[in-house]
Amino acid sequence: MDLATLWYLTIGTLVVATAMTLWERQAHAQRSAELGIWAAAYGVFTLGCFLAMYRNVLPGIAGPALTNVVMVLGYAMVLQGVLALDGKGLRLTLLAGFLVLLGLAWFVGGTGMGSAFWNHLGALPIAVICALTALALFRSSAAKGLRSRPLAIVVFACHSLTYAARAFVVPAVVPHYGDGILTIVARITMYEAVLFTVAMPMSLIALVREEERAQLLAHARTDFLTGLYNRQGFFELGPERLRSQWRSGSHTLLACDLDHFKAINDTYGHDAGDQVLILFAHVASEAAGPEAMAARLGGEEFAILLPGRGPEEAHEMGQSIARRFAEAAARSDGLAIAATVSIGLAESQTGNADLSALLAAADRALYKAKLLGRNRIEIAEPMAAAAAA
Ligand code: GH3
Ligand code: MG
Ligand code: MG
Repeated sequence: MDLATLWYLTIGTLVVATAMTLWERQAHAQRSAELGIWAAAYGVFTLGCFLAMYRNVLPGIAGPALTNVVMVLGYAMVLQGVLALDGKGLRLTLLAGFLVLLGLAWFVGGTGMGSAFWNHLGALPIAVICALTALALFRSSAAKGLRSRPLAIVVFACHSLTYAARAFVVPAVVPHYGDGILTIVARITMYEAVLFTVAMPMSLIALVREEERAQLLAHARTDFLTGLYNRQGFFELGPERLRSQWRSGSHTLLACDLDHFKAINDTYGHDAGDQVLILFAHVASEAAGPEAMAARLGGEEFAILLPGRGPEEAHEMGQSIARRFAEAAARSDGLAIAATVSIGLAESQTGNADLSALLAAADRALYKAKLLGRNRIEIAEPMAAAAAA
């Protein structure tokens, strides 16, 4: 395959990548800035490829210098888009200053040793920017946990290594093998460029798509009013929490139901009722801590899963939640509503507890708490005993 074919292939891929990224941009309003920057960067790369192909048409060093500056601008724009994922960005004056300096370096140093600049030194800024892009992805909290993040990091790290090799390894090799090696290096560089121009846009689009999917999923698992998990979130994520946070001993679950909540709605209105629900959610999640999983299962019914916590600890926590909730609701500078909660506590002594069975047991204890006068916590029979009965 000759060099020109590879250049045209790269240009074709870049045009497709630009079009696909712009198309994708219409579907992701939240990331339209990032996708826009990337599409523009691919446009800049396309221009850079044309300049590179015809670099010898321009007089003196102008062709290679312009090509290199345009290409570096394209890479900086890709980095800018990646940084924008986390609301960060390069300072534009700094970037402009750097590009001007690079251009000057070409005219000062490149005139005498154009080939060395083209083959080695010009590769250095590209290696650095791609390494920074990989680092930005590695540190990005927006991309955290996304499956395509390691892929994107590898893509940029490999590209960075290719250009670092061009900058540092090739100059050491040329004296041994002669200038003929430069033709091979050019072919390898172009072949890698084709792969990179396919892999880079694919991995960046995948990031945006996966991020949106993760947000939709989180949304579907969240209760809109209180911000706690909803029933779906509780049953989808609860079992994994139980498995991963098993430390021997037991898991516990508190089933909570606000007392006479219908009467609160009737007396103070639905909006005040909503505020009571929000208050309970706040008190419960604060008291239970980050290791617990608090969910609103529906209406005025909540569940607090305490992975790896024993019944004594859970009982104490339940009492504390009930006390703090009643106090907070009654505060005269707050809602000034007499609201209480009844709680049922169930324990499972196995690591892979059945969440539905655990909730059913806690519900039975909750029912008992209601019968015994409300505003109290009752403990279910141990799960094994209940199953045997
Ligand atoms: P108990 O002490 O036996 O639990 O009595 P209760 O009144 O709390 O129980 P009941 O199931 O009769 O009433 C629950 C009420 O919760 C009825 C419903 O209108 C109200 N409710 C359910 N969802 C919401 C909501 O999102 N906001 C408000 N404000 N009220 C809600
Ligand atoms: Mg209820
Ligand atoms: Mg109730």
